[in-house]
Amino acid sequence: MVAARNVQKSFGDNHVLKGIDLDIQRGGVVSLLGASGSGKSTFLRCINSLEKIDGGRIWVDGELVGYRAQNGKLYDLDEAALTKSRLRTGMVFQKFNLFAHMTVLENLIEAPMSVLKLSRRDAIERAQRLLERVGLTSHHAHYPNQLSGGQQQRVAIARALAMEPEVMLFDEPTSALDPELVGEVLDVMRGLADGGMTMIIVTHEIGFAREVCDQVAFLHDGQVVESGNPADVIGNPQHERTRNFLSKVL
Ligand code: ATP
Ligand code: MG
Repeated sequence: MVAARNVQKSFGDNHVLKGIDLDIQRGGVVSLLGASGSGKSTFLRCINSLEKIDGGRIWVDGELVGYRAQNGKLYDLDEAALTKSRLRTGMVFQKFNLFAHMTVLENLIEAPMSVLKLSRRDAIERAQRLLERVGLTSHHAHYPNQLSGGQQQRVAIARALAMEPEVMLFDEPTSALDPELVGEVLDVMRGLADGGMTMIIVTHEIGFAREVCDQVAFLHDGQVVESGNPADVIGNPQHERTRNFLSKVL
């Protein structure tokens, strides 16, 4: 479902992604681990076309990300094509970024109506289904500042799902939460994984990675230095960098 080959990204002189290779099958759930600055967020942003890669290729569901290939050459996508291709991935950030002046329901129906051109009625129906899924049916009329951080993050997940993406990308979705609110967000993510959603999750929740993910990839200095099933990578890391990292977070 997602394939990355030799993905390269620099910011000026700072060569951040130095040849990332990763494969995720449909329904696969991968956690990306790695020290601060190793390039985890940058890689997710590249998959979502929030950043443009300088080299290599990323495919989502067989389609190139950010470019179109013709006669062996790559051409930039125009804005409209980029927006369309971005819809294939849903992204959830550490900060929830909900629209503060909109209710929960309005947050969920805005993009489906304006981007997907759903009728208000269909958008509301979809939103209600999703609110049920994240356990917030009774909060539809609340504004974000009337919700806990955990509830806001569950709304953010529902909002991403409302666009019916093929892949969900999570960038440290529980890092900004008080410890007692982490579980409710992880439970929603576990439900998504059980439902067959393809997911890439940057997280420091090692227990969750071990339990829910079927692959763990460890990033160091812009490369995947170790990847495999969680029991192996977390339980018996081969690479010194992985061992170092895990000894600090476990
Ligand atoms: P953390 O665990 O702290 O979130 P990370 O693994 O997500 O770290 P990135 O945010 O991907 O790391 O950053 C990798 C490198 O890229 C860092 O050196 C960072 O300063 C640089 N970087 C990221 N985004 C930009 C940007 N928009 N402009 C310039 N440099 C950037
Ligand atoms: Mg990051």
